[in-house]
Amino acid sequence: MSEPEPEAAAPAGPRLTVVATPIGNLGDLSPRARAALAGAEVLACEDTRRTRGLYEALGLAAPGRTLAYHEFNEAQAAPGLLKLLREGRRVVLVSDAGTPGLSDPGYRLLNLCRGAGIPVEVVPGPHAAPLALLMSGLPTSSYTFKGFVPRKPGARARFFAEEAASRHTLLCYENPLRLAATLAAALEALGDRPASLALELTKLHERCLHGTLATLAAAISGEPPRGEAVLVIAPEPRGRPEPEGLRA
Ligand code: SAM
Repeated sequence: MSEPEPEAAAPAGPRLTVVATPIGNLGDLSPRARAALAGAEVLACEDTRRTRGLYEALGLAAPGRTLAYHEFNEAQAAPGLLKLLREGRRVVLVSDAGTPGLSDPGYRLLNLCRGAGIPVEVVPGPHAAPLALLMSGLPTSSYTFKGFVPRKPGARARFFAEEAASRHTLLCYENPLRLAATLAAALEALGDRPASLALELTKLHERCLHGTLATLAAAISGEPPRGEAVLVIAPEPRGRPEPEGLRA
């Protein structure tokens, strides 16, 4: 097992620093993430007002230059950010919450940096999917993170059908208003498997509903739950790995 190392100084020179930010609890921002935010020359973020609010909450001065980088301008904005990196700027990328690039903008810029030989530093931190996996109590040894469930019924049905024989625990992000349709589609494609719904993770009203796809559908049928949600579904029963403790 590797030992933790003493805090290393941030690498010198131009680089893209990707910083994960809290998904609810401000206390989850690490000292390293805070230092990276404080040291940004150029900040690329989804919603400039929201990120300014984060800086204020942390008592940090806003960076000299803040640029919008979101799902609707990602393709156009990424080359401009690459140019700033080539000019020697220290660019920090954040999303509204959690880890940039994971069901959030970021991939294009990371890909361009890789192609251009620009160093990338990732400051790890909050990410809703693994938290939901741990809260679920379902097998953790192998899992598939599917991102957002498609909104259109046909695409949603295919999204689950292609996992029908999956030997991995499935994780997906969903808006609570669409959960009923999503649970119905999952039930239809996968059968009634153990599942859980993690809600409002790291926030005051954090909770996790445990059951099966059918019992979860029944539990939310009256009123959709509030807040943000991650659905976790057990693997196909014959492919389900044994709990660690039962192995020889
Ligand atoms: N990049 C983020 C991350 O690292 O988790 C995900 C951003 S994605 C736009 C937003 C989705 O993530 C939500 O619809 C929900 O499915 C999930 N999510 C984010 N924060 C959450 C929270 N506090 N509790 C439960 N789910 C959350």
